[in-house]
Amino acid sequence: MTSGMCVRCGGHIAVPEKETVVREKARQLSDQASYPVIYRMLKGIVLCGVCLDSLPLIGHDICQRCGRDRELQVSIGDEGLCRDCVHGEDGQILVANRSLLRYEKGEKDLLGLFKYRGDERLALYYGTLLAITVQRYYRSMGFTCITTVPLHPQRLQERGFNQVDLLARYLGAAIKIPVRPLLCRTKDTPKLSKQKGRAARHESMREAFVWDGKDMPFAAKILLLDDIYTTGSTLRSCARTIRAHLGPSCEVYSLTIYR
Ligand SMILES: [Zn+2]
Ligand SMILES: [Zn+2]
Repeated sequence: MTSGMCVRCGGHIAVPEKETVVREKARQLSDQASYPVIYRMLKGIVLCGVCLDSLPLIGHDICQRCGRDRELQVSIGDEGLCRDCVHGEDGQILVANRSLLRYEKGEKDLLGLFKYRGDERLALYYGTLLAITVQRYYRSMGFTCITTVPLHPQRLQERGFNQVDLLARYLGAAIKIPVRPLLCRTKDTPKLSKQKGRAARHESMREAFVWDGKDMPFAAKILLLDDIYTTGSTLRSCARTIRAHLGPSCEVYSLTIYR
C-alpha cells in the first residue's frame, strides 16, 4: 500500500513501514495530551518512513529562549540559556523562539526549492512541521494572531510570493488562529553570505521594518513566523517594531522551521 511520494527522497510512501516510525516520533515529540494530534499530523506528512526517521529533530534539552538544541552548544548559567542568549543584548524583546529542526546540510536544498519555487507539496510539508512545533512547544498559548516576517517589496516582486505567507496560511488553518500582516519591510538587507559577522547583521537589521497593521489589543500575544532562526536579529527587529507600536504589555513569540 502506498500513498503518494515522499517530498525528500521522491520514493513512494509505504504506509505499513511508516507506521512504526510515526509512533516512535510521535512519542518523542509529544506528551500524553498532544500525542493523538501529533500522531495524526505525522501520519499525514508527505514523508516516507526512512526520511521521517532521519529528520534532524531538535532534542529535549533546548535553550529556553532561542530554542536551540543544547547538545550542540555548551550552556552556562542556571536559566537554561545558551551562550548567545546569555550575552545577547535586548534578549527580552522576543519572549522565546521555538523551532523543530536543526539546519543541517541536507536541509538547505529542500528549503531552497520551496523558497524559490513555492512548491505546493513543500508548503504542505513545512506547514505541517510548523503545526507540529506549535503542538510541541506552544500548545494552549492563546495567541491573538500569527504574523510573518515580510519580504522587501522589491524582493516580493522578483519572487512573486512570500514563502512564509504560504506557511502562515496553512498554519493558521491548522491551529485556528487568524493570520494578520502587521509589518512592512523598508530596508532590503544584503544576503547573509555577503555580510560579515553577527555585529554587521545586527546593525543592518536595525529599523528594517515599520508597523503596517490594523488595530490590535495592547496585550496581544503574537506568533511571529519565519523559515529559519539564524542569529535572531531579523525576528528581534520585527518584535521591536511590533512592541514599539503596541507597547510593552504585548508579547512576541517566534516560530521557525529551522534553528
Ligand atoms: Zn523519503
Ligand atoms: Zn539561546
